[in-house]
Amino acid sequence: MQQRNDIRNIAIIAHVDHGKTTLVDQLLKYSGTFRENEHVDERAMDSGDIERERGITILAKNTAIHYKDATINILDTPGHADFGGEVERIMKMVDGVILVVDAYEGTMPQTRFVLKKALDQKLKPIVVLNKIDRPNARPAEVIDEVLDLFIDLGADDEQLEFPIVYASALNGTSGMEPDQQNETMEPIFKTIMDYIPAPIDNSDEPLQFQVTLLDYNDYVGRIGVGRVFRGKIHVGQSVVVLKKDGSTKSFRVTKLFGFIGLKRVEIQEAKAGDIVAVSGMEDINVGETVCPPDHPEKLPILHIDEPTLQMT
Ligand code: GDP
Repeated sequence: MQQRNDIRNIAIIAHVDHGKTTLVDQLLKYSGTFRENEHVDERAMDSGDIERERGITILAKNTAIHYKDATINILDTPGHADFGGEVERIMKMVDGVILVVDAYEGTMPQTRFVLKKALDQKLKPIVVLNKIDRPNARPAEVIDEVLDLFIDLGADDEQLEFPIVYASALNGTSGMEPDQQNETMEPIFKTIMDYIPAPIDNSDEPLQFQVTLLDYNDYVGRIGVGRVFRGKIHVGQSVVVLKKDGSTKSFRVTKLFGFIGLKRVEIQEAKAGDIVAVSGMEDINVGETVCPPDHPEKLPILHIDEPTLQMT
């Protein structure tokens, strides 16, 4: 089985304030990936709340970080239980998660909530014990708490073998031991590359792209964000969307966007394993599959638990 060793897709999960944002910033900084124009695509909608409830999300962001010859897509997840459906959808796009836990506070309600979703999806977890610089940090105890939580949530044997990286995202240090911190993010990158499975490279097969999040932009209209699960997608390609009700709709891909840092960049083609944003498909909805007209094969339906979505 061929794999794409140049890609890793992971979600970052944590209780609020445990340091997700600081960590991603630090990874970006260390990698030298540009962090520019980060507000460009954030304006979007006035009717934010309603659109958001329908699965259109402008806040869930992908940060694409270049590390050596690879791109690591880090998808941010909302920690709040109100966005459970969104968390689940994001987890469909990734092969592993980074669980960030505050080395002083330990596991908290949102840690439990998001970790359960990740474990249920059979994703491989990496634990980053953050804020190791705090004078009252208690790494050994907190790791025990984390392990107990994994067991309690029904982690399988492989998931229980999670690697642990100790870090101070604030100071830009990390290490494989709590008391051995160096001014580098290398241990985190190396753990991601070694431990998180690379996507399968089946880009010679017919396209399957699933829309996991929706976005909107004044210039190009509705944008479907998702992962290419099979094959290739390119600008100008004629595709069909397999609708939930069983009907199909033909479209042409007008624009394709990849990610560099937090910035969306226009690209011409993407292939299996890539996370991309596609425009041109005005009526597309979350969970629908995009395929070539002669290979209409649906991906498994996404489970979406927002009540508003079930009504539409
Ligand atoms: P998020 O809610 O998980 O995205 O958390 P943030 O990254 O916004 O961090 C929350 C707070 O914790 C901020 O005040 C950060 O400066 C602080 N913080 C983040 N990482 C560290 C760390 O490694 N050590 C310490 N002492 N504080 C940190």
